[in-house]
Amino acid sequence: MATLFTRIIQGEIPAEKVYEDDHVVAFRDINPQAPVHVLIVPRQEIAGLASLPDQGDHRYLLNAAKVIAESLGISESGYRLVINQGVDGGQTVDHLHVHLLGGRRLDWPPG
Ligand code: 5GP
Repeated sequence: MATLFTRIIQGEIPAEKVYEDDHVVAFRDINPQAPVHVLIVPRQEIAGLASLPDQGDHRYLLNAAKVIAESLGISESGYRLVINQGVDGGQTVDHLHVHLLGGRRLDWPPG
């Protein structure tokens, strides 16, 4: 069965997409934690960091993040990328994704 994010990628579930290419799709998080909160998702269904293959669409995530941050105007002010892995990491959707957060000063360390 397709993951939630595959269904968003395929347009079955609506989302505000901000970027797509042959390898990744990015859309705004439904429950934003910052003025800019975008999820960057490989088209390939990879469950998470713990099951990362050697090759695949995940290799394009960082370059996409850079391009998206520029297009959303937060490249200069700064931003944070987060990947939650597993229960302790707070992962709730088992399809690898990078959170791109920006538009405000972010606290450190995270909670
Ligand atoms: P995780 O907790 O797995 O790192 O992140 C999952 C993210 O997906 C959460 O920030 C959550 O708000 C977001 N999310 C869950 N369901 C949907 C949805 O249907 N649409 C969108 N756009 N985001 C979602």
